[in-house]
Amino acid sequence: MQKLDAITDFTEITPSASISTATHGWRAKCLQRLVRLDMPVPRTVSLPASAVRGIAAGRALDCAGVLAHFGDAPLVSVRPSPAQPEWGGPSTVLNIGMNAARHALLVKTQGQAAADALYLRFVQGYAVHVARLDPDMFEIAEPSAQALRDALRAYRDEMDEDFPEDPARQLAEVLRSMARAWEGTSARLLRQSKGAPEDAALGLVVQEMAQGIGQGVSGSGVIQFIDPVTGLEQITGRYLGQSQGRDMKSRESDALYLTRDPRGPSLEDLAPELFETLAQQGAACRVKLREEMQIEFTIDDSKLAVIDAVRVPRSSRAGLRIAVDLAKEGIITREEAILRVEPRALSELLHPQVDPRAARDVIVRGIGASPGGATGRIVFSSAAAQASASRGEPCILVRRETAPEDIRGMHSAVGVLTERGGMTSHAAVIGRGLGLPCIVGASDLRFDMKDHKITTKAGRKFVEGDVITVDGTTGEVLAGAAEMLPPALDDAFRSLLSWADDVCDIGIRANADTPADAQTARDFDAQGIGLCRTEHMFFEEARLVAMREMIFADTSQDRAAALARLLPMQRADFVQLFDIMEGLPVCIRLFDPPLHEFLPHSREGLRELAEALDRPLSDVMRRAEALAEFNPMLGMRGVRLGIVLPEIYDMQAQAIFEAVVEVARRGGAIVPEIMIPLVSAKREVELVKHRIDAVAANVRSASGVDFAFKLGVMVETPRAALRAGDIAQHATFLSFGTNDLTQMTYGLSRDDAGRFMNTYVQQGVYPEDPFHILDVEGVGELLLIGAERGRQTREKLTLSICGEHGGNPESIAFCRKAGFDYVSCSPYRVPLARLSAAHLALMDRESESSVESMD
Ligand code: PEP
Ligand code: MG
Repeated sequence: MQKLDAITDFTEITPSASISTATHGWRAKCLQRLVRLDMPVPRTVSLPASAVRGIAAGRALDCAGVLAHFGDAPLVSVRPSPAQPEWGGPSTVLNIGMNAARHALLVKTQGQAAADALYLRFVQGYAVHVARLDPDMFEIAEPSAQALRDALRAYRDEMDEDFPEDPARQLAEVLRSMARAWEGTSARLLRQSKGAPEDAALGLVVQEMAQGIGQGVSGSGVIQFIDPVTGLEQITGRYLGQSQGRDMKSRESDALYLTRDPRGPSLEDLAPELFETLAQQGAACRVKLREEMQIEFTIDDSKLAVIDAVRVPRSSRAGLRIAVDLAKEGIITREEAILRVEPRALSELLHPQVDPRAARDVIVRGIGASPGGATGRIVFSSAAAQASASRGEPCILVRRETAPEDIRGMHSAVGVLTERGGMTSHAAVIGRGLGLPCIVGASDLRFDMKDHKITTKAGRKFVEGDVITVDGTTGEVLAGAAEMLPPALDDAFRSLLSWADDVCDIGIRANADTPADAQTARDFDAQGIGLCRTEHMFFEEARLVAMREMIFADTSQDRAAALARLLPMQRADFVQLFDIMEGLPVCIRLFDPPLHEFLPHSREGLRELAEALDRPLSDVMRRAEALAEFNPMLGMRGVRLGIVLPEIYDMQAQAIFEAVVEVARRGGAIVPEIMIPLVSAKREVELVKHRIDAVAANVRSASGVDFAFKLGVMVETPRAALRAGDIAQHATFLSFGTNDLTQMTYGLSRDDAGRFMNTYVQQGVYPEDPFHILDVEGVGELLLIGAERGRQTREKLTLSICGEHGGNPESIAFCRKAGFDYVSCSPYRVPLARLSAAHLALMDRESESSVESMD
C-alpha cells in the first residue's frame, strides 16, 4: 500500500534531463550546467520541490529507487536546492550509507583511519541534523576508532536504539528532516529577510560522495578565479588534504594554497596536473555559465570531482568589475552588465568604506546621512577641527547640530556626527555635497559640549581626542579605528557608467553650489547643474560676515553697501561656475536663507559679528532677537525675502547677467536658468520677474551684449503645486524641491523630524523616512498635479526634481514615468542616478519586447 503511495518523481541529472530552477532549485540547475560542460560531477539525483513538499507532509519517498541510481553500496550526500542561493536551506549531510558493513569494507580498501573518519562524520551529521541531538555531545577533536565507538554509544544512549544501519532508512530520515527544517519558522523568517517569497520551495539533490578521505592524494577545497574584494583576476581558495565538506573551517591552518605561494605549500606543487585541470574547468565555467563561479571540488585518490559551484560571493566593487570584464570579453552584453550592478552599490565605490569583514564595536546608531566610512579623533568645534587638520590629524567633528559657521570645520574634518537632525538637515545636505561621511540624529548619545564629552546609553564615555569611526553608510558609530576599503573610481566604474548613459533616457543634473561641487559634478558626467543654492556660496568665513552685514542692515543705505560688497563675489562665483560647466545648463536659485542658519548662535559668535560690524554687542543681540523666528523654516525665507527686500535678488540677477556677459566676451555661451524659491502665489513670480527683466535690460544696455536667460520656479509649497497652472504663465521651468514640499505636506519639520522618525518608521506609521524616500502617495500626488497643471498652461514646460530625493532610484522611476525632463541630486549621487535611470530604461525595453513577443 505504502509502495503505491511512495513519491517517485526524482530525476537523475543528465545533460538532457528536464531540470529547471523553478521546479528543482538553483543547485540542481547549476549542476546540470556543469554536467553539460562535461565536468567530472559525481552522479546526482534531483528531488523537485513538489517531492520535498510531499516528504514534509509525511509521504514516503522511494529511497531504494533513489539509491539504485548509484550502484552497489553507495555513499551519498544530500544538499538543499532552493530557487535562489541566498535563501540558504538546511545543512548538508555527508556519507549517508555508512554502516558497520560498509565501514568494515572501507577499513580494508582505504585503511582504518579513513574508514573511521568517514563513518564518524556521518554519525555526527546524522545525530545533530536529523536526530537533533546536542552538538556538544558529538564534538570530536580527532577522529579515531575510539571516538567512533563513543559517538555510536552516545547515539544509542540518547535515542534508545542503535544507529540506523539501513541506507534507505538513513536517506529517508535525512530527507524528511531537511524537508521539515525548511518549513520551520526561523528558517522561513531568515529566508524572507533575504527576499524569499512566503511560499518559497525547496528542492534537494542527492549526490554520490566523492570522499576526499582515503588513499593517495585525497582532499577537498574551493577555487575561484578572481579576488572577491577587488574583482581582479586572481586564483584564490584553499585545499585541505584528507578532508570533506566543512572540515576546512575547523582545520584552516592545515590548508594548502592553490597556486605556488612563498608562504607555504600549494596544490599546484602537490598535484600540478590536477591543478591545471581545475584551472581549465574554471575558465570553461566562466565562459559557459557567463559568471565568475566558485567551484567546490574533491580529490579522491588523485581523481578530481567537481561537486558544486556557486556564484563567487563578492563585494560591490568586485561585482562591478566582474560585470564589466565579462561584457568587454563579449561573454555578456553591455546591457546585461548594467543590469547586473545594483545602483545603490555604487555609493560604496565612491567613498572609503568600513571593511564589512572587520570587527565592529558599535557605540550608537544614528541616521546614515552621507555614505562612506572615516576614522578620526573627536573634536567638538570647528576651530579644533581646523587645528587638527593643520597638524595633519584626521578628525571627526562632533556637534549637537551644524550651522554655517561649521562649514570650515566640516571642510577640515573627515567625518561628522550630530545629535540632532534628519536626512535633509544642514549637516546632512552639506555632508553629502562634500562627499563627507556623516551621521545625524544620534540622539541616544549624550552630548556634553561644555566638558567635551559624549556618553553612550551604557555609560561609555568618549572625550576630545578619542578615536572613533563613523560609518555613514550604515549610520553606525564605532569605537576606535576600523579597517577601510578605498574608493574604486576606476576604469571599470567609468566604462559601466558610460554604457549606462547610452541607454539612459532622463536627464541627470547635479546640485552644486561651489566651483568644487561643479567640478565634482563634471567629473561624474552630470549634464548640468539643476540647483545652485546661492546662499551656500556664503558659508565661507569672510563671505559669511558680508552676508550677515546684509541681513543685519537696518537702513537701505547699509544694505546697499553690504550688497555692493557681495556683488563682485557673486559675479566671480558665477563666472567660475559657467567656466567649469562649459555651456552645460546651470540653474541658479536666488537666495533662500532660512535666517536662523545665518545668525550666530553663541555669544562668542555674536561678539565676533559685533566686531566685524563695528557695533556694540547689545545692538547686535537686539537685532538678532528681532530677526529670530519661531519657525524659521516657515519664516522669511526664499521669495518672501526677495519680495520684502528686493534689492537682494536685484544684486544676484545683476551678478548672473554680468557673469554671462563676461563669459560671452571670451567667446563662451551660456543661457542661465534663474529659479525662484519657496513660491506659493503667482503674484510673487510676477513681482520678481518684473524686476529681473529690468535688471537684464540694464545689463544689456550697459554692456552692449545681448543674452538670453530662463526664469523658473521651485515648487516647494503644496500651494505652488496646486496653482502650477497659474505659475507656469511666468515660468519656463518648474523644479520640485521635495525637501520643503515633504516638510510642508506632512507638516513635519526637516530639522526636528529625526527625534521621532525612528519610532514612526518602526511602528509602521511611515513606511520609510519621507525625507529619504519620496512619499509617492502624498508628496508624489502633488508632483503629478503640479506637472499636469503646469503643462496644461505651457506645453513645453521643463519639469524636474531637485530635492534630496532626486538621486534615489525610486524617485527617478517616479519622475521618469511622470515625463520629467531631468532629476538633480548631490554630485556624489550622480553616478547612482545615471545607473538607476539606465536600469529603468532597460527594464522598460525588456517588458516591451516581451509584450511584442506575446503578440
Ligand atoms: C528643497 O526644498 O527640496 C530644496 C532643494 O531646497 P533646500 O533643500 O535648499 O530647501
Ligand atoms: Mg527648499
